[in-house]
Amino acid sequence: MNSIVFEHVDKTYDKKVFVIKDLNLAIKKGERIIFLGPSGCGKSTTLRMIAGLETISAGNLFMGDKLVNNIPSGEREVAMVFQNYALFPHMSVEDNISYGLKIQKMPKDEIANRLKEALRILELEGLEKRKPRELSGGQRQRVALARAVVKRSDYFLLDEPLSNLDAQLRAHARKQLVKIHETFHQTLVYVTHDQVEAMTVGNRIALMNKGDIQMIDTPKKVYNRPVNVFTAKFIGSPPMNIINIEYADGQIIIGEHRITPPEMWKRLMYKNGKDRFIMGIRPEHVKLIINKEDDAVPCSIRYIEDYGNDIGMYFSMAGEEMIAVCDSNAPINNQEVYFHPDYKNIHLFDADTENSIGYPQEID
Ligand code: ADP
Ligand code: MG
Repeated sequence: MNSIVFEHVDKTYDKKVFVIKDLNLAIKKGERIIFLGPSGCGKSTTLRMIAGLETISAGNLFMGDKLVNNIPSGEREVAMVFQNYALFPHMSVEDNISYGLKIQKMPKDEIANRLKEALRILELEGLEKRKPRELSGGQRQRVALARAVVKRSDYFLLDEPLSNLDAQLRAHARKQLVKIHETFHQTLVYVTHDQVEAMTVGNRIALMNKGDIQMIDTPKKVYNRPVNVFTAKFIGSPPMNIINIEYADGQIIIGEHRITPPEMWKRLMYKNGKDRFIMGIRPEHVKLIINKEDDAVPCSIRYIEDYGNDIGMYFSMAGEEMIAVCDSNAPINNQEVYFHPDYKNIHLFDADTENSIGYPQEID
């Protein structure tokens, strides 16, 4: 069942600057969907349209099967958490959390129940009487989440809620968010530019660029089956290596070197009807070998970074700068090594459209 549906939605400023153009998107009831993309791509604008904090310029927006184009924010059953979670400085933790419910004149014992549950889930027990200035950044952030949780709204909207936290606190807060969702099953819409948050929190990721959705699918699909070069480069760290190649007479040409791909890839490239492609290969999938083999392309290592567990090897191949991430025990100390594509883990894109030409095998 869908719970939020955008139909041909535009958002323009001054009737000419398109921030969002012809957005079509169906968000399922109870799912955790992530709007991911670079700064300025329109993530917050899209979220704010759902919240009713921005009007839509054209098209229709439905929430729970109801057209909400002109429904004010207060009537939309939404709870929001922003990056700048302004708490009331003069109020205690418990007053900050329950303030909204008191305004609604909710019965006292119901407020007490909801408060107790939120304090427990967000690990704020014992801090009820403190003022925001007596809390750490992570605790303040959890109070902001608790304040949204007690509303028990159908829609839980979060805009970069963890950006102000350090890496360790962020990891902890991600787990808490998933726990909140598994308790209340709201439709959760989460804006972030952090791909790790997107991969770990999302049931589905909507990857945006310049007001357009590039791909919307599960984290696994977005990582393993990117539909275009933008998606391929945005997800993954260090980013996917991207190499320009040609295809002729059943062979892939990299610089001056020719290698023969398996039949299934040949068929896809032939079907595409072009002779120029972009090959993508993730740093963790690059295999470098020491001995020259058929179908291997010579490379030279430029620089090595030690990450502890892994090493990052910067190398050049046919004039392209690339990176491989491999086990720190990898027996590579030579300057001359060879690249041997692991065809299970390559990606091919049309050089003109930058769209994927498909894969010999699909995944679930
Ligand atoms: P994101 O959250 O992905 O970083 P936003 O949704 O905040 O991006 O903004 C998308 C684009 O809309 C940006 O280019 C921004 O400059 C533009 N924008 C936002 N608000 C306004 C406004 N009031 N007038 C004109 N342009 C705006
Ligand atoms: Mg934003």
